[in-house]
Amino acid sequence: MKICLDKITGKTIRYPLDGVAWFPPELGLFVASEPGWISVCRSDSETVLLKGELNGVLQSSCGRCGVHVEDDFNNRFEYVVSSRKEEIPEEQEVECSDDALNTLYLQEPEIDIDEILREQAYLESPVRMLCSENCKGVCQGCGAQLNSESCSCSADYSDSPFAILGKINKK
Ligand SMILES: [Zn+2]
Ligand SMILES: [Zn+2]
Repeated sequence: MKICLDKITGKTIRYPLDGVAWFPPELGLFVASEPGWISVCRSDSETVLLKGELNGVLQSSCGRCGVHVEDDFNNRFEYVVSSRKEEIPEEQEVECSDDALNTLYLQEPEIDIDEILREQAYLESPVRMLCSENCKGVCQGCGAQLNSESCSCSADYSDSPFAILGKINKK
């Protein structure tokens, strides 16, 4: 979805999100019957305040053992959208501050809502979902699911094909 800046007035317009096709598949599956909304309202001739909310369930697989996991995904966000040219202060590091509003500088006079939603999905999704903090994962020697099975491996598994999996999972 894209919103033309010309159409935004000083009156808040709220758009319900009608799908989750924008959700990046590498983060998992975002499941929601009513995924949320975004609203836009003009602050001045060059600035628009954008707010939004996402509500659903994120489905993925455990980063250690691979079982299906779900987590609530609820997120509110706000952006100041500016059609001004981005001002980059000279010889000064751009400071990142949590309480500062996200500012989005537009290249074109329209707001790409999907792009904002994708950014929020990345910001709010866990780097790795786990079925439990204590998940024991998969045995690097025999591939057993250590949460539900025990195995008698004790040797050095560095030659096993599962060792690679273990190294990936430990990242
Ligand atoms: Zn697990
Ligand atoms: Zn084993």
